[in-house]
Amino acid sequence: YKTLRLILGDQLNAKHAWFQLKDDSTIYLIAELHQEATYTKHHVQKICAFFAAMKAFASALSQAGFHVCHLTLDDTAAYKSLPELLHQLISDHQIEVFEYQRPDEYRLLQQLRTLSLPASVSCTEVDTEHFLLPFDEIPHHFARGKHVLMEHFYRMMRRRFAILMQGEKPEGGKWNFDKENRHKLTATDLAAVPAPLRFDNPVSDILSRLDKHQIPHFGQASDSLLWPVTRRQAIELLNYFCQHQLQRFGYFQDAMTEQSEHQWSLYHSRLSFALNTKMLHPMQVIQTVLTHYEQADGKISLAQVEGFIRQILGWREYVRGIYWANMPDYASYNTLDAHRNLPDFFWTGKTGMACLKAAVSQSLHYAYAHHIQRLMVTGNFCLLTEMDPDQVDAWYLGIYVDAIEWVEMPNTRGMSQFADDGIIATKPYAASGNYINKMSDYCQSCQYSVKKKTGADACPINSLYWRFMDKHQQRLAVNPRIGMIYRSWDNLADNERQAILSRAEFCLNHLDQL
Ligand code: FAD
Repeated sequence: YKTLRLILGDQLNAKHAWFQLKDDSTIYLIAELHQEATYTKHHVQKICAFFAAMKAFASALSQAGFHVCHLTLDDTAAYKSLPELLHQLISDHQIEVFEYQRPDEYRLLQQLRTLSLPASVSCTEVDTEHFLLPFDEIPHHFARGKHVLMEHFYRMMRRRFAILMQGEKPEGGKWNFDKENRHKLTATDLAAVPAPLRFDNPVSDILSRLDKHQIPHFGQASDSLLWPVTRRQAIELLNYFCQHQLQRFGYFQDAMTEQSEHQWSLYHSRLSFALNTKMLHPMQVIQTVLTHYEQADGKISLAQVEGFIRQILGWREYVRGIYWANMPDYASYNTLDAHRNLPDFFWTGKTGMACLKAAVSQSLHYAYAHHIQRLMVTGNFCLLTEMDPDQVDAWYLGIYVDAIEWVEMPNTRGMSQFADDGIIATKPYAASGNYINKMSDYCQSCQYSVKKKTGADACPINSLYWRFMDKHQQRLAVNPRIGMIYRSWDNLADNERQAILSRAEFCLNHLDQL
């Protein structure tokens, strides 16, 4: 072979230009790496999903007639890092040209850009051909340390790709229909929640390799993986979403329940793993959704479709821009100076707080939680209790099947922890038990009372919320959207405020017993 091309685990893009032409002198490398299995402690299903999808991609390429070198942990055990493995292969096969697709993660980009290959080997970096905003254009829209409003970025993307536009105007006259969305699930709604489409991908060989190589992991293991690991399965999941879930996507986007066996998936697409591994292209997802919308004869409302498209055309591209404009500094922001350690229940789900128990348990079970669980249950809890953002990042990066740093970190450190100096959000997503109660039925079965702020049975989130608001009053009260909240705090009698603050201190000192 003359050319070695590297395909990373999140670069499973069958439509890439690399695969337009066959060339017998090119070999493709797809390798299970110890460094990737251990750069953070991952949920076992996350590692299985990546390894299974990589194996499936390797066989699809071989079947299509490409030369592929698929290595398992057994084959790569001797190599501490990717560069070592590459050096070996380059020398074994007397490679003249090494090519890789630009990684989406800063850590890997640094690693590949600093390879010191023999002078006789030429090295080329190419685009992954996945994102909608070209990499080189990121600096036109994002600047280091600067707040960028998602809504502006999103409107630019709508215009640029002519998605849901009527000329210069947004379809339906508005850019955003959230006011019509975001409902709680009633008893009747619960009966109609669709079963999620699950796959049955065998992963016992991967599990035994993880064992054999003593790869640390957590979460519930299963021989059969429910996540899509091929492009065909990813497309099936996309179509299933359009047929069964899109209709109510926005409507119940923020809803949470523990009263349905499908509570963990509800109306969410669960396409993030397929998208983040690039098995699906974002424009393919958007176009498929638009086609279903157009053919649905009015049965799917614009509010559902716009809400969904905003997540992909807007949020997903936006957090990537924030990441690249701000790395590596972004990884060490800690605006609120938070330093507490995550309590054990983040790894066991054992807590009396029903909302946290549900969100953590399902994350351990499925390597998945939907956005509001991530943001307003676990994220909000970490924000209010001042958890160290490094630990919070590590937890999110490990536990979710879709977690890759470029998308995990801006969401966690920025959006949920408000640790990034306001680069993403102008105010923290802080909420009391009221919000959880408004969007879920968790509080009904909880041992704590959401109506109370003080006393041993008071919802801990309530006092923690007020402590947080009180502590950061100087910083937050200047924001007109928050200023009002302080009026009700300031109106409380001194002793009431004190009682709430002491309940919060008690909770902070006994997090593991809550
Ligand atoms: P749906 O609700 O069906 O949404 C459709 C798609 O929109 C998703 O698949 C995703 O690609 C995209 N999307 C939606 N919201 C966001 C967002 N805020 N940022 C980027 N893309 C978005 N998403 C990840 O892909 N990986 C992560 O590691 C990750 N970590 C997160 C951590 C925190 C603290 C928070 C608050 C959010 C995080 N998200 C992450 C964003 C979002 O929660 C997930 O994309 C979503 O829950 C995935 O489930 P889904 O495919 O069913 O999404």
